[in-house]
Amino acid sequence: MKEKTLFEKIIDREIPAEIIYEDNLCIAINDINPQAPTHILLIPKKPIINLNDCDASDSEIISHLFLKIKEIVSICNISEAFRININNGEGAGQEVFHLHIHILGGRKFNWPPG
Ligand code: AMP
Repeated sequence: MKEKTLFEKIIDREIPAEIIYEDNLCIAINDINPQAPTHILLIPKKPIINLNDCDASDSEIISHLFLKIKEIVSICNISEAFRININNGEGAGQEVFHLHIHILGGRKFNWPPG
């Protein structure tokens, strides 16, 4: 059987995490190494590797994640300004190969990103 991803272990409560939000399709947790005063990871429960691993059968999950963002930022009081980021592939900084959206807030962000 395929080994569980880190985030599947968190979803299955095998590894502890600070859970901000959870429903049947996704979970949102505090990042263990925050890059801003608020740094949340929004993760589909389905272990999709990254955006290259999605197809039309994932439409509900992907739209659910993006539509959920405004609720998460509201819970965290960062609705006014926040940045979302997906590191897609090793060359883009992806370390956990289970799709996740970084949601960052609470400080000023620069553009272009590093
Ligand atoms: P990425 O580099 O885009 O794959 O992001 C992986 C993120 O997972 C990083 O920001 C890590 O700090 C975060 N992370 C790693 N382990 C944990 C954990 N046990 N709980 C919460 N966040 C974690």
